[in-house]
Formats: sequence, structure tokens, C-alpha cells
Amino acid sequence: MRRTIIAGNWKMYKTIGEAIELANGLKRELFELDTQHIEAVLCPPYTALSEVAEVISNSNIQLGAQDVYWQDEGAFTGEVSPKMLKDCGCNFVIIGHSERRQYFSETNETVNKKVKAALKHGLFPIVCVGETLEEREVGRTFAVLDDHVINGLKDLDKDEFSRVIIAYEPVWAIGTGKTATPQQAQEAHMYIRGVLAKMYGAELAQACRIQYGGSVKPENTKELMSEPDVDGALVGGASLNVTSFATILKTAAQVKK
Ligand code: PEP
Repeated sequence: MRRTIIAGNWKMYKTIGEAIELANGLKRELFELDTQHIEAVLCPPYTALSEVAEVISNSNIQLGAQDVYWQDEGAFTGEVSPKMLKDCGCNFVIIGHSERRQYFSETNETVNKKVKAALKHGLFPIVCVGETLEEREVGRTFAVLDDHVINGLKDLDKDEFSRVIIAYEPVWAIGTGKTATPQQAQEAHMYIRGVLAKMYGAELAQACRIQYGGSVKPENTKELMSEPDVDGALVGGASLNVTSFATILKTAAQVKK
């Protein structure tokens, strides 16, 4: 049985004060969330990690970051290491988000280095994969998923892979209001699980959690979470508001219990 995981990617939103307010609101709304079946993760910007960590300490909400560098320390101006994220209280880190691939030259090779570094320091990587609209339209969706999954997870051993979470995020659905249909999501998730099975065997592939991301909202959570291979969501816009993110979590908890 895979434990559902819903993560909120706050992107470059929220000052420290706003982040504290949002985290406090979610803590209040979610205090009864049954974490036996579902995990809730907040991924604020770096600047608010410590403060949000403090707000959610002793709660059923966990902390993640939006990116990481692969070195432990050194002269890498502007970068943040896995050790620093652990120090802030993070357990999770998003790696290879399409916005990082699109605007900051992230490649499968850098994703792979970051995944290995995160695992080495005890962080659970949430590895984002997914096709653009153009790639979908020319029938390259599965080829892109092969490329992102195989090369992003290259040379991980079985123990390392067992701590990886995948987020299937079709780029055309991120921040656009266009959600993949539940059938499109299920098809892609099943395909990814098949790729993972070839890499790590059926048992580990079955145990791997695959989130869907792309315009997840309270209104479409139930139908997306009802698909058998959808194990949660990576939520952008709708995670910036207490009511909408709490509703997504509560809805997912109902569907997956
Ligand atoms: C995301 O940033 O990962 C995302 C899925 O954004 P949105 O929910 O806003 O589409």
C-alpha cells in the first residue's frame, strides 16, 4: 500500500511573514489529518524554510525545499546544499521541476547529481518528469518520460531508489488551468511505473509513489486521486491558499483511505 503524498510548491511566492501566516493556517486546518495514509509537505522558498519549520514542528505537516545543489559546501555562490536543507528541517526536496529545466538550464544530468546528493543526506527527492505540449502533440510523451526517468535516476541502487518520489507534471498543465484528464494522468503514471519496473523490478516499482502535478485544485482532486496509479499531488497555485490546499488534502485523504 503506497502512502499518499501531497506537496505544496510555493514557488517564488510568500515573504517570511506571509509564509508563517499560511503555515499557521494550514496547521490549524489540518490538525486532524490522518497521517497514517497521507503525508502533507510544504515547500516554501528558501528564505522562509526555517520559520515555516518552526511553525509546523510538532504538527502532522512536513517540510521540503524547491531545489538543491549537489555539493556539500564550497564556493558556489547562490546555491544551497542538502546539508543546509536538513539543517533547516527539510525532509523532502523537489528536483528537476519543469520551471528549473525551462529557465535555469536544469538537465537530466544535473537532476541525477542532485537526486544522489539529496539521498546521501537523507532527503526524499521528489523528481519531476513530464512532457511539453509540443512533445505530446507529436507523440513523444512516452519518449520524454523514458528520458527523464531513466537518466534522472541513472545509477541509483535499489535502496536509493526506494526513497525516490516521482512527480508526473505535464508541462502544458502547470500553471495554465488545464489539467490532464484522470485517464491521461493514469496512462502516464502506469507508463512510468512500467519503466521503473524494468529498472528496479516489479516490487520496488509498485512501492514507488508517483504524484500528479498540473493545475490540481479542490474541484479536480477527487477524480485525479481516484486513479489507481496516482499516489498524490504536487500542487502549485492552489497550495498558496489555506482553504484550497487544506481541501485538496482532506479530499485526497477521503479518496485514499
Ligand atoms: C507545480 O508548480 O508543480 C504545479 C503543478 O503548479 P500548478 O499546480 O499551479 O499547475
